[in-house]
Amino acid sequence: MNSVLLPRYRSASRLVTFMNLTPVSRSLICLSLLLQFLYCFLESIFMNVAASVNAPLPIQSQLKKEARYGCSICGCPLLEFVQFIPSDTPGAYLPENMIAICPTHTLKFVQNELSATELSSFKTKPYNRINENKPFALAPELTVNIAKTKFINTYRLLSVDDFDLVTIRKENNSYLLLDLNFFDSQNNLIAVTSENSWTTDKKLVWNVDYEPGYLKIQNKTRQILFEAKIESGEIFIVADMYYSGIPVNITRDEVLFGGIEEGAETKGTTLKNYETAISFQSDKWLT
Ligand SMILES: [Zn+2]
Repeated sequence: MNSVLLPRYRSASRLVTFMNLTPVSRSLICLSLLLQFLYCFLESIFMNVAASVNAPLPIQSQLKKEARYGCSICGCPLLEFVQFIPSDTPGAYLPENMIAICPTHTLKFVQNELSATELSSFKTKPYNRINENKPFALAPELTVNIAKTKFINTYRLLSVDDFDLVTIRKENNSYLLLDLNFFDSQNNLIAVTSENSWTTDKKLVWNVDYEPGYLKIQNKTRQILFEAKIESGEIFIVADMYYSGIPVNITRDEVLFGGIEEGAETKGTTLKNYETAISFQSDKWLT
């Protein structure tokens, strides 16, 4: 009995002691508790940032290759690099303690819905390796439909002033590698995908949806959208993007630059080995 009652007695004793303190001492104790709470809160934020790390490019390449260019858990081609076992030395990266996963699964790890043990297990059997019939991939040729025009073996898909907004290449003659540059309407570069490595400001809310053969990246607040869908061995692109504050829109039917349809003359045609599928000049639009 004593062992049960003792802690209660101690708590009551502490409360009496606290009430007997001077107002200044009580304020100091409250301040100390508040600082402890703030520390825990900030620690949780820093854990959020630290979960996905800006790993050196050779390590990113190694982890992407290991995961076959898709999230180790779901196959999504947007990848972040997570240290599921933190390094003892700041700035040191051990690939054996890291995994390539999509932003959705990074968030689940940060929110403790996925454990380090589970990530370690997914690392040994990444999605694209155990689901070889369901990768985000195309073979043998890269065929991309933009509006009603079909482009074969053209990797630079959308550029403005010779700056690439959308590029898709193939790795190992199969897996799709995306290079995407997302500017907002104020001309801020707010997210980048570089050979499937995804980088953005963590304060921005992006919706990344993926199911085999279909990727959707959306920022509703900034009215930005990119969709890539594989149908019958061909990619179909839909996009709402910006460059120099000018909206660039690709629908299933038309390509609009600054709200004006462009490239209508190639609709219904197939073009092969082009250098750039859709290319705009901003000065033409601004004058
Ligand atoms: Zn995932």
